[in-house]
Amino acid sequence: MSMSETTVPVNSSEPIPGQLTQLLNNVYRLCANNPSMMTGPGTNTYIYGKNELAIFDAGPKLESHINNILAAQGTLGAPITRIFSSHTHSDHSPAVAALKSALPAAEVIGLVAPAGQDYEDLTFVPDVQPEDDQRFEHDGASVQAIHTPGHVANHICFLIEEHGFLTTGDHLMNGSTVVIIPPKGSMKDYIESLEKLSHHSIQQMGPGHGAVIANPQEVVSWTIKHRLEREAKVADALKSNPGFSPAQLVPTVYADVPTHLHPIAELSLHAHLIKLKMDNRAVETQGSWTYVAA
Ligand SMILES: [Zn+2]
Repeated sequence: MSMSETTVPVNSSEPIPGQLTQLLNNVYRLCANNPSMMTGPGTNTYIYGKNELAIFDAGPKLESHINNILAAQGTLGAPITRIFSSHTHSDHSPAVAALKSALPAAEVIGLVAPAGQDYEDLTFVPDVQPEDDQRFEHDGASVQAIHTPGHVANHICFLIEEHGFLTTGDHLMNGSTVVIIPPKGSMKDYIESLEKLSHHSIQQMGPGHGAVIANPQEVVSWTIKHRLEREAKVADALKSNPGFSPAQLVPTVYADVPTHLHPIAELSLHAHLIKLKMDNRAVETQGSWTYVAA
């Protein structure tokens, strides 16, 4: 089936904080004013519907952004009845609590924050924790929840099926690779979640940060390849440096990445090491890692 006959050309421009931008029929983007090294131009909130609006990733607890989301009801002439959440990092879900008090009838959909993990929003209280592949009928159309653990364990992408438009949260970003944060973030899960997306009919992706991705399956394949290449670098570095810690391995494995990003790269490197261990290609003793032949 071709979606192209019914799909409006995608708006591929960079998000502008505070500006409501139409992307497709009944699909809008509102970028929060929280730009940073980790959030790019800011966190993207997507809005979908005609007679009833669904929000995807309400964003950070930022008064201007919460007010802009509420004001969109007036601009678009419909009430917000659903709030979908990709995950519970502090730039993606803390606005939910404020929206829920302003809109008590709105249904909140997402998975609760994993325990024992940093950077998590513990104020996020969903009404529904969706099963993998669960469909929600919304305003006469359908939204499918696709579990995509990896970046963090409770991550979900949501597919607006009529457009093949996937809101990716932090599973994929436009222009940079995402950080995998152990212990709940898992490189093995991350790559499996990417492979899972290649089986879905996706025309475009709305990432949590950055412009719309117009070539989704190309980006999925590139990302899998890129991660496996990094894994090979980790394995090589480990072979030459038995007993090294993740911090000691970073300069070798991430020689292509600016040094001010190395503390963040260390998290993903640790995630690669855990995957190697799960694949029986590395062992760890008190933070020291050693390669073992598979
Ligand atoms: Zn995140």
